Amino acid sequence: MRVRIEGIGECYSGDLANTRLAVSAMDIVDGRIAAFDAPADGEYDARIDAAGGAVLPGLVDGHVHPVFGEWTPTQDALGWIGNYLHGGTTSMVSAGELHVPGLDYANLNAELVTSLAVVTAATTGRVRWSGVKVHAGTCLLVPGMTEQHLDRLAAAGSKLAKFIFFPLEDRREEALQITRWAHERGIRIKVHTGGVSRSGASRMCGFSTLQWLQPDIAAHVSGGPIPMPERDIDELVDRAQFMLEVCSSGNDRSTLHLVRRMMERDQLHRLCLGTDTPGGTGVVPRGLFRSLLFLTGVCGMDPGSAIACATGNTARAHGLDVGVLAIGRPGDIVIAGRVDGSSGPAFAHSLAHGDFPGISCVLVDGVPLVRGRSEQTPPPAQPALFSCCNFSWMGNPQ
Ligand SMILES: [Zn+2]
Repeated sequence: MRVRIEGIGECYSGDLANTRLAVSAMDIVDGRIAAFDAPADGEYDARIDAAGGAVLPGLVDGHVHPVFGEWTPTQDALGWIGNYLHGGTTSMVSAGELHVPGLDYANLNAELVTSLAVVTAATTGRVRWSGVKVHAGTCLLVPGMTEQHLDRLAAAGSKLAKFIFFPLEDRREEALQITRWAHERGIRIKVHTGGVSRSGASRMCGFSTLQWLQPDIAAHVSGGPIPMPERDIDELVDRAQFMLEVCSSGNDRSTLHLVRRMMERDQLHRLCLGTDTPGGTGVVPRGLFRSLLFLTGVCGMDPGSAIACATGNTARAHGLDVGVLAIGRPGDIVIAGRVDGSSGPAFAHSLAHGDFPGISCVLVDGVPLVRGRSEQTPPPAQPALFSCCNFSWMGNPQ
C-alpha cells in the first residue's frame, strides 16, 4: 500500500527538539513513513494534495475513559471514538475503565480490578474502533495486588496502571512495591492528582505524595477537575522529573499557571495532554485540539511546540511509537488548514491565535480514514484533494 501526500505548506514533526520540517511531500508505504520529498513515481494507492495546508502527526489523547468500545454509558452516547477521529485524534490511552455502571468503588479488590482491566483490554482494546488506536486495560490499582496480578495485566497487554483509589499515604511501601512490579513488566504508572473526581472516591494527591512515589505520569496536574494548589504545581515543575499531564477537564487558570512555569523553566519536554473524557466533562471530539489551542492562544506557546506536546510528548510518556513524523514511524497523520475568517494568512498564524483549524484528512497507518471533510470541524479554506485513490474499503483496518 503506497500513499503520497504532496503540496504540503507547513509540516510539523511532533518532536519538540525540532518542531518544523522543511518538507513538501511525503511517501507512506505499508503504513509507515518511507520518504520525504522523494520524486513521485506515479504508482500510488492514494495521492493527496494538501493544497498548501499543514501536515502534523495524529493527536494522541493520553487520558480517556472508555467503557465498552464506542458506547460510553457515562454520557449515554454512541460513536464517541469515531467522532474523536474526526477531531484529529488517532491514538488514545485509557486512564482506567472506572465508569463501568454499577462498579462499587467502596468494594474494589485486586481480583476485581485485574479482571476488569483484562476484560477491557480484550474488548475495547482489541478492536480498532473507527480506526483509532485505543490502548485500554488500565488497572485501577488497589491494596492486595501481587506479582501474579501484574503478570496477568502484562499478558493482557496493559501499558498503564493507575493509582486513583489507592490509600497511598497509608501504604507507601506497598505502593512502591506495586510500582516496581509494574515497571519490571513494562507497565507505566499514572497517578490521579488534585482533589476528588466525579467518582467521589478518588484520593487527593499533591506534590508531597508524588515526590516519594515517583510515578511516570502525574495525571491532570492542573485539575481533573479540581487542581492541586499552585504551590504544589510549582514544586512539581521545579523539583520533579516525571511527565506532567494537562487535561481539558481541568482548571484553565491552573493550566495557564503550570504551562507558563514550564515554559519559563525549560520543562516543556515533560508536558503531555489528554481530555479526561468521556466523563463528567462530556464527550468532546475536539477536546484535545482545544487543549493544544489553549497552549498557543492563551499560554503563548509556539504552534510547533504545542503540537509536539499533543503528539510526540504524549506518545513518549506512554511508550507509544506514534506522534512523530519521521522515517519508519507509523503514518498517523492529520492534514489541516486555516478556516476562512481565522487570524492571519497561514495555518501557523491561526493556530498561534488559538483559532480552531479545519481538518480535511486523517490517516491511520497510512489509511485515509477521513478524506476531504471532517464531520467535526469547519472546512479549511483550502481542503486537501484526493486523486487515484484505490481504497475501496473505509472501515476497520484490522
Ligand atoms: Zn480521568
